[in-house]
Amino acid sequence: MFDNLKKAFSDVSKGFSEKELKEKDIEDILFQLEINLLESDVATEVIDSIKDSLKEKLVGTKVEKKTIESFIKKSLIQYIHETFDSAGSIDLISNIKGKKESGEPYIIVFVGINGTGKTTTLAKIANMLKNSKFSVVIAAADTYRAGAIEQLREHANRLNLKIIAQNYGSDPAAVAKDAVLYAKSHKIDCVLVDTAGRMQTSANLMEQIEKITKVVQPDFKIFVGDSLAGNDTVNQAREFHNHVTLNGSILTKSDADARGGAALSIVKVTSTPVIYVGTGQEYDDIISFNKNTFLENVFEENENELELDSTISLSEPTPEPEPTPAPDESDPFDGIDTDDINEYADLFDVPPPENDKQANELAKKIKKWISDGRPNP
Ligand code: GDP
Repeated sequence: MFDNLKKAFSDVSKGFSEKELKEKDIEDILFQLEINLLESDVATEVIDSIKDSLKEKLVGTKVEKKTIESFIKKSLIQYIHETFDSAGSIDLISNIKGKKESGEPYIIVFVGINGTGKTTTLAKIANMLKNSKFSVVIAAADTYRAGAIEQLREHANRLNLKIIAQNYGSDPAAVAKDAVLYAKSHKIDCVLVDTAGRMQTSANLMEQIEKITKVVQPDFKIFVGDSLAGNDTVNQAREFHNHVTLNGSILTKSDADARGGAALSIVKVTSTPVIYVGTGQEYDDIISFNKNTFLENVFEENENELELDSTISLSEPTPEPEPTPAPDESDPFDGIDTDDINEYADLFDVPPPENDKQANELAKKIKKWISDGRPNP
């Protein structure tokens, strides 16, 4: 993979010291970004919106060729920061504490399509709340899918939690209501309501979810989506959001999805935050969503470079060009053995540098690593 690394590095480091930027360069770099985002499973409509937004802001902006790539990248990072920030953040645990103080149960309704991990996620949240010393009751309000009630009962047994269930075909809103009444009469802190994920028609499903939310008036409506399903997940989130106005989302299977770009899409479409991501099949495999981790995964860079650069303002047409070394023909990798470069790149999983500055920094790191005796990471 890194066979021609030395050549690639020096080609890149020379290429970036050339000429003024042309319009086509912006297109080329946006194209590169588009590939990055597609590979990261960001939905196409969201990518289009990002590209349009960046293009619009860049028109009339004068940036030298040697800085255009980092300028666009920083603009994109700023866009992503803004998208996540404007959706806000939610601390479920402190919200539940607040409701508990008022003596009322906190009601969470889980919505999502079958197979996305909704039931497992509900159980993970139940486990998390139990570990936070909250009492929990589960409502088996998917009375449609064969096996749904047993599956939930199995989780409830394993976690030693009360479950409220009726027969298949019974009214899901009535099951949810029963669970709320049980919670009120037994001073239970949280009610977690499982719902159906597939009906004969989507209209049928949405009507049912709407009815449940009208009857139990939940404090929180969570969409559970599969982070591997890309555009499908975004479409599902949009539809649920249109019917019941979601409060946030949980993305499952992020362990199988190294990039996690679905988070950006969901946040963009629902304007509500992704609060947790599922990281495996066990009860503890759930973590809070982290914007910086998302950015690291998309750009494969270290955190420092991804901090929002407050000096960038897209409304200012001409940013200060970044200081770059004077163009010369010297190759920063001169004097370093190709085998050493390959070994370093393999050990530390280093992508090729994209400009002179990165090439110089990388060459320095490799020299230091050699003088330190080539330690393993
Ligand atoms: P539901 O039909 O939406 O209720 O989906 P389930 O909860 O039955 O989950 C479907 C499959 O996805 C099961 O095999 C789960 O173990 C698995 N699953 C759920 N969440 C995760 C996750 O975060 N990571 C992984 N790897 N698998 C998950």
